[in-house]
Amino acid sequence: MSKNQNKTGSYSFFNCIEKNFDKAARFISIEKGLLEQIKACNSVYRMHFPVKIGKEIKVIEAYRVQHSHHKLPCKGGIRYSMKVNQDEIMTLAALMTYKCAIVDVPFGGAKGGIKIDPQTISSENIEKITRRYTSELIKKNFIGPGIDVPAPDYGTGEREMSWIFDTFLSLRSGDVDALACVTGKPVSQGGVRGRKEATGLGVFYGIRELCHVKEEMYSVGLDVGLVGKKIIIQGLGNVGYHAASFFHESGAIIIALAEREGAIYNEKGLNVSKVFLHLRNNGSILNFPEAKNIENTEKALELECDILIPAALENVIHKNNANRIKAKIIGEAANGPITPEADEILDKKGMIIVPDIYLNAGGVTVSYFEWLKNLSHVRYGRMEKKFRENVNAEFLKIIETVCKKKISIEEKKMILRGPREIDLVRSGLEDTMINGFHKIRDLKKSLKIENMRTAAFVLSINKIIDSYEKLGIFP
Ligand code: GLU
Repeated sequence: MSKNQNKTGSYSFFNCIEKNFDKAARFISIEKGLLEQIKACNSVYRMHFPVKIGKEIKVIEAYRVQHSHHKLPCKGGIRYSMKVNQDEIMTLAALMTYKCAIVDVPFGGAKGGIKIDPQTISSENIEKITRRYTSELIKKNFIGPGIDVPAPDYGTGEREMSWIFDTFLSLRSGDVDALACVTGKPVSQGGVRGRKEATGLGVFYGIRELCHVKEEMYSVGLDVGLVGKKIIIQGLGNVGYHAASFFHESGAIIIALAEREGAIYNEKGLNVSKVFLHLRNNGSILNFPEAKNIENTEKALELECDILIPAALENVIHKNNANRIKAKIIGEAANGPITPEADEILDKKGMIIVPDIYLNAGGVTVSYFEWLKNLSHVRYGRMEKKFRENVNAEFLKIIETVCKKKISIEEKKMILRGPREIDLVRSGLEDTMINGFHKIRDLKKSLKIENMRTAAFVLSINKIIDSYEKLGIFP
C-alpha cells in the first residue's frame, strides 16, 4: 500500500486529482516547484460551531477551502452532506480552479461544505446552520464579492443562497455590491435567468458537440449526431434532472435513470417528464409503469448503452466495476465520478471520457454571468432588447419593400425578437461549451495526448501558469 492510499487500499480523493495533474505535467515544461504551487490548496478553513436544534446544542463541522488565488474572487459551491470531509472539499476546490481556467472564467477555485444531512433536518434548522456558517465566513474574511463567492452544490440550492446573501447584507449593510457575494440566487433576489439548469445544459452542449465530430464517433463505432443515442443518467438532482430533460428533448433515448433507491429501465426509452411527475408524486422513481425496476442502483451503470452520464457524487466508477461498464462514452456531469484506477481500465477499453473539469463547467460559467450582472446592477438585455427590435423592424420593412412580399405574422415574430436575459445567458453558455470542447480536442491532437482528461488538465494548467506569469509571480 503506497503512502497515498487509505486503509481500504484506494487513493484519497485529493491524491486522485494530483495523479491526473501529474499526467498532464508531463506535457508542460516548467520548473517543478511552480507546478507544486499550482497543485497545492492555498487556504483551508475548518470550523466547528454550535447550533441549538430543539433542546440540544449540536456542534456542526464545516469547511471552506480556497485552492487558488491566481485570480480573484475564489469561486465554488457549498455542499450539505454527511460525507463532507476536508479531503473531499480540498479536491472539489482544486477541480474548481481547473474548471474555471478551461472555460475562461476569471476566478480561483474554492469549495465549501457542511457535514449535515439536509433530508433529516427541518428547514428552520437548515436556515440557522446556513446563517451561522455565513457569519463564520464573514468573520474570517472568507466571503465577499471580490474575495470568495459561494454557489449551490450537492444538497443546496437557491433557498440556501438567499439566506447567505441576506446574512451577508445584514452584516455588511451599505455594501452596494453585496448581491455579488453569492451566486445561484433566485431571480427575484438578484439571480440570473438560466442559472438553475446551467450545469445540466452545459453537459448537454458538451456531449452534443462531441457527437457531431465524425472522427470521434467513428472511433467508438457510433454514428454522428445525438438523435437515437442510448443514454443512462445516474443521479436526478439538479444537474441530472436538467441534463436528462435536454437529452430527451433533443431526440436521444434515455434508457435508464438511476437514483439512490434503485433504477428504472426501458430499452425503448423513458419519457423523462412523466418519470419526474411519478417521482414527485411517489417520492421514488421505482415502480414507474412503463419501466422495469433495477433494485441495485449500481447495476444501472453496467447496462449496455452509448452514453453514460454519472451526475451524482464522486468515485461511483471504481476499479471493481470499471471492467463491467459497457458505455462507449462517459460524460462526467458529477465531480470526480471515476477513480484513477477505473480511468486507466476504461481508457484501455477505448472509451471516450469527457472530463468533469470541462463538462460540468456550465454552472460556474453562468454563475460568472450572475456575478457580472450583480456588479453591473442591470438585467441582461435591458438596454438593447427594444433597440434590437426597432432595428429589426426597420430591416423587415426594407426587405418587404425590396422583395415586394409580405412576411407572415409568425415569421415576423421570430425575426423581430430582441434578446432577453435567458437568450443571452444560454447563448453565452453554448458558445463557452463549444469553444472549450474544441480547445481541448485541438490540444489533444497537436500534442498527441492520450485522452481528453489529460488534455483538459494541460489546457487548464497552461492558462493558470500564464496568469501567474502575468502577475509577476513566476519570473
Ligand atoms: N457547484 C458547482 C460546481 O461544482 C457550481 C459552482 C459555482 O457556480 O460557483 O461547479
